[in-house]
Amino acid sequence: MLEGSNGFVLLDRDGVINVDRPDSLTRLEDLAIQPGAAEAAEMLVAGGYSLLVITNQAAVGRGDLDLGTLETINAAVEKELDGAITDWFICPHLSDDGCECRKPGTLLLEQAQKKYGFDPSATWFVADAGRDVEAALRFGCRPALVRTGKGRATEKDYPNIDVWDDLISFARWLAP
Ligand SMILES: [Mg+2]
Ligand SMILES: [Zn+2]
Repeated sequence: MLEGSNGFVLLDRDGVINVDRPDSLTRLEDLAIQPGAAEAAEMLVAGGYSLLVITNQAAVGRGDLDLGTLETINAAVEKELDGAITDWFICPHLSDDGCECRKPGTLLLEQAQKKYGFDPSATWFVADAGRDVEAALRFGCRPALVRTGKGRATEKDYPNIDVWDDLISFARWLAP
């Protein structure tokens, strides 16, 4: 671990950093950052955390989104968050592809852990969907559910995990 570092916070993208869309975010002009998300990222980084985004992007596998556009959208997210994101781990597959990287699969978490060497049990994964919570639990990370995106619906299924209203509420708690 780097000196002065408190470790890593893992973040889902859609519904946590940016506003979730039922039809998937496939166009840059549809990108809308969640209120407070940029400030949250700034607080977390100031608090010594490095941010890794762990995201399913099945729209790629469906053919609705090409990798170039995905990169453009992710670059815009990074810019909105003022460069606070250290790295991205992306699954482009469909559920039916049977890959191990699509959450609740844990391959993306494994790849992130191998690359950055964090201790899963000391690492929060901020998420809005059940498949994120499942991936976090399977990999031994600490799930932090937020009530944005799919979070309110997900909350009912996981009565025993920690919940915050949104990313900025979580950041104020973790890195005040
Ligand atoms: Mg999500
Ligand atoms: Zn995959």
